Amino acid sequence: MEQNKHHSYNTKELPKGCQYCVKGEKVVLFVTGKCPRKCYFCPVSDHKFGNDVIYANERDVKSFDDIVKEAKVMDAKGAGITGGDPLMKLERTCEYITKLKEMFGKEFHIHLYTSLNLVTEKTLQQLYDAGLDEIRFHFDLDDTKFWDRVTLARKHDWDVGVEIPCIPNKEKEMREMIDFIHDKVQFVNLNELEVADNELSKLNEMGYKVKDRLSYGVQDSVQAGVRLIQYGKEKGYSLGIHLCTAKLKDSVQLANRLQREAEGMKKPFDLVDSEGMLTRGAVYLPELCPGFGYREKLKEIDSPIMEKLEKLYDEIKEDCQLQENELFLDRKKPRLLLSVKNTKLYKEILKEMGLKVAIVTEYPTADQLEMEVEFL
Ligand code: SF4
Repeated sequence: MEQNKHHSYNTKELPKGCQYCVKGEKVVLFVTGKCPRKCYFCPVSDHKFGNDVIYANERDVKSFDDIVKEAKVMDAKGAGITGGDPLMKLERTCEYITKLKEMFGKEFHIHLYTSLNLVTEKTLQQLYDAGLDEIRFHFDLDDTKFWDRVTLARKHDWDVGVEIPCIPNKEKEMREMIDFIHDKVQFVNLNELEVADNELSKLNEMGYKVKDRLSYGVQDSVQAGVRLIQYGKEKGYSLGIHLCTAKLKDSVQLANRLQREAEGMKKPFDLVDSEGMLTRGAVYLPELCPGFGYREKLKEIDSPIMEKLEKLYDEIKEDCQLQENELFLDRKKPRLLLSVKNTKLYKEILKEMGLKVAIVTEYPTADQLEMEVEFL
């Protein structure tokens, strides 16, 4: 079977939520780490799972404004709401859906993932009334007791789908699931199974192997997905089947989103590469520069540090004769940013001031995670 241009496989047009997602146009809204299930393949990281934390992409959310900021930075055309299980915090989830629609308009496409555990007529009605466009149910392949609940979603005028990881030794159960849902939902999205580096995931202990050293994708997951697509076709089922590969997520969806974020986050002097990474010059205080314990120190920023940097900003601007748009005081990650060219040009002056000077390449995301730091 031929891959499509996004490195995935599909029988019909991609589900609407996926169409935005492959272009990197969706802000990923993680509304809570709470979940009624404990799946052995859960990809949610340890610091999020079970905790009531909120993120918009990589941005820590304290208020709705943080979500708006993130959506604006990447010029988002929609949102994908995930968790945990968003239904564990239904009121919050509905409030965000309503507010996002008010803020960005009716066309702002919102889809949501949920296990079936908390689905009732009432919870679905609330989501529908809030303005949700598409709902995706995460079926439990080892327990069919909630499967029937999927029919409750048909009452509303929205897109309904099922989304599960494609587990190689569960082909029989996945075929049974497709037999069950084919006339109840519009699509099923099968994700290539990936090994996660967290406590909940038990795939390694269960003997699943990754397909190669450079990938988290599990052996035979994509092949099992292709066989399921074949099965659906042979049965003449009308539902669309989309097999979403790890490659689509990493090299298409994520790369596109990073490009969009880079456009919104870059300073006038930043260099942006084809993957959306930013390269810039950075000036750090010696007590707060990348190295051992840096991440921890960033959590305890106090006002004397900021005051020191504000003073330095004025001094450097004057000593190096820089314009307003050539020097930036980064308050999120306390440091000063400037162009690569000016950093190299003025590195001796900066070092004489007792500062650490570097060229950094980093993600355009809210956490500005460094990929490479080269001290000069
Ligand atoms: S995979 Fe989804 S449903 Fe399963 S435990 Fe993780 S967050 Fe919950």
